[in-house]
Amino acid sequence: MQGYIIDVKNVRDDDLIVTILEENNLFTAYRFYGARHSTINVGYKIDFELESNLKSSIPRLKDVIQLGFEWILDREKLYCWQRYIKLFYPHLKEVEELESFYFQSLDDTVHKMIKQNPKRAIIESYIQLLEHEGRLHKEYECLLCEQKIHNKISLVRSFLPTHAKCSYSKTFEFNQIKELFDEASLLKFEDEEVEYLWNILLQGL
Ligand SMILES: [Zn+2]
Repeated sequence: MQGYIIDVKNVRDDDLIVTILEENNLFTAYRFYGARHSTINVGYKIDFELESNLKSSIPRLKDVIQLGFEWILDREKLYCWQRYIKLFYPHLKEVEELESFYFQSLDDTVHKMIKQNPKRAIIESYIQLLEHEGRLHKEYECLLCEQKIHNKISLVRSFLPTHAKCSYSKTFEFNQIKELFDEASLLKFEDEEVEYLWNILLQGL
């Protein structure tokens, strides 16, 4: 099986509890002496096997092989990637059967990050995730006053639209946000605006 490591917890001395996002499942597995295995790290894509164990309620993770990314040695890309992928754990941890969308989306993002700025690639993927989950609010009603938004617009957590005057947040042009929501494209955004959106994303998926 293949999957992305979205959470790693230390237990006892060197052992780990690892959560892996596979195409159709979220697996939580036990890894003995994990600290000695450099292949276990949040954000890594791995090939792995699970071994059930009568003594334990969770399976053992074994035969782990790290599947490299072209940019794995680029510290900034890896750092952004790890911060993003960690957000999937609180977002999905209650889910038992997973849609393949999440795995595909991570695969696509890894690929886009070869050429693209990591924060831009991740935010564009996140827009598609919101769309997929039916959480992209294209009716442009303000979260706070529930009135239509026509020109100046601000985004709050989960990219929910508000009037700039209602949330006292950074202002964007309406058409800029509309293009972002319709086309999942940040082409019209300056780096400093991308940084602002990045910090909203880090508040949680
Ligand atoms: Zn408002």
